[in-house]
Amino acid sequence: MLTTRPRGTSDILPGEVEKWQYLEQVIRNLCREYGYREIRTPIFEHTELFERSVGEATDIVEKEMYTFKDRGNRSISLRPEGTAAVVRAYLENRLYAGPQPVKLYYLGPMFRYDRPQAGRYRQFHQFGVEALGSHDPALDAEVMAMAMDLYSRLGLKEIELHVNSLGCPQCRPVFRERLREFFRERDGVLCRHCRDRLERNPLRILDCKEEGCRGAAQGAPTVLGSLCSPCEDHFRAVLGYLEQLGVPYTVNPCLVRGLDYYNRTAFEVVARDVGAQSSIGGGGRYDGLVEACGGPDVPGIGFASGLERVLLAMERQGISVPSPPGLDVFLVAADEAAREQSLVLVQQLRKSGLAADRDYMGRSLKAQMKFAGKLGVGLVAICGAGELARGAVILRDMRTGIQEEVPLSKLVEEVKLRCTGRKESAPVNGNHAGA
Ligand code: AMP
Repeated sequence: MLTTRPRGTSDILPGEVEKWQYLEQVIRNLCREYGYREIRTPIFEHTELFERSVGEATDIVEKEMYTFKDRGNRSISLRPEGTAAVVRAYLENRLYAGPQPVKLYYLGPMFRYDRPQAGRYRQFHQFGVEALGSHDPALDAEVMAMAMDLYSRLGLKEIELHVNSLGCPQCRPVFRERLREFFRERDGVLCRHCRDRLERNPLRILDCKEEGCRGAAQGAPTVLGSLCSPCEDHFRAVLGYLEQLGVPYTVNPCLVRGLDYYNRTAFEVVARDVGAQSSIGGGGRYDGLVEACGGPDVPGIGFASGLERVLLAMERQGISVPSPPGLDVFLVAADEAAREQSLVLVQQLRKSGLAADRDYMGRSLKAQMKFAGKLGVGLVAICGAGELARGAVILRDMRTGIQEEVPLSKLVEEVKLRCTGRKESAPVNGNHAGA
């Protein structure tokens, strides 16, 4: 136990973490360009918030939340998704009183007690955006275009956007009843869960993966046939804007999404290469959510993408990310006197903005050189009693093996000179992201 992490979690080690940092940087640039600003909410919230917003009859709330009583006997849950907390923060901080829409994004860990497999974890990470305060279908199209823009910047190919409309509280009950009638006649072939869903949430039967339920769903009424005219107009406008923006899409009438709070636009982004867990992102409109959480009647639309799945898709498509620069220089001490002095020298280099390090394991000169090689450092500064007495240090270019003695007083300048050009990051291998 002491040396094993909990199931469904991961350690992101150096070597891997650079990919995360790159992805996060692409996301932050994207958000800035689309006018979204970052929000950071707590990792845990009152359980009631998720029950109210995600919905009590959803898999997430029924089966997947990490819920516990804190020492004050309050029911607390680790956040399973990001929208609920953003809406809570929008209300609590009265962001609705300022100019609308409020465009926010978040990046961070989410927690779901799910059966772990490739692309599905118990602690995973999401990037999400929420735009609150506008009904404009152009905003729906913008959010989808932004999601697709992200994947294309990352160099991902064969990414599909599936879109549907779920109607609104006026027209959805009609559709729900039509679905119920349709499936009641076929309830013998439905799985146990879907028989249960039949009364509570029949829309979910449409996206059940069980073979019997998929068969039963053939020929089921589609929500598009039940939309009221404002919802139909909204949906047509969304699709029209997507066309104007040149964003390819497929209307998928079976797309219902797992969370209760969606209305009108619902969408999902699917990648070919991530296996069973092919959904790399999804989102939709949630016009009733702010009010359901006790606030004013404010509409909203959002999107969330799982970072693990995006990275998995990138890996499977052979996309590499630019590697960040490592150390500029490694200080090698040839003897004890130089070793002491090198601590001060290395600090001077850092203070002048260079990335520098030295040995802390009492290695021999040869072993220090070998270690510097392993770190992949391009430049080594070797100092020994002789050089120090002359007020000098030897610079060795690790690629060419060429050595030069430079005055200590010019060390920073000489290192910087040699580092120019090296700082630019180079792709590791394979395709380059965004190529
Ligand atoms: P959802 O909040 O369920 O709509 O999920 C949005 C996105 O988060 C999905 O498209 C996935 O990319 C990702 N995701 C959801 N659940 C998990 C999980 N258990 N592990 C990894 N990624 C997940």
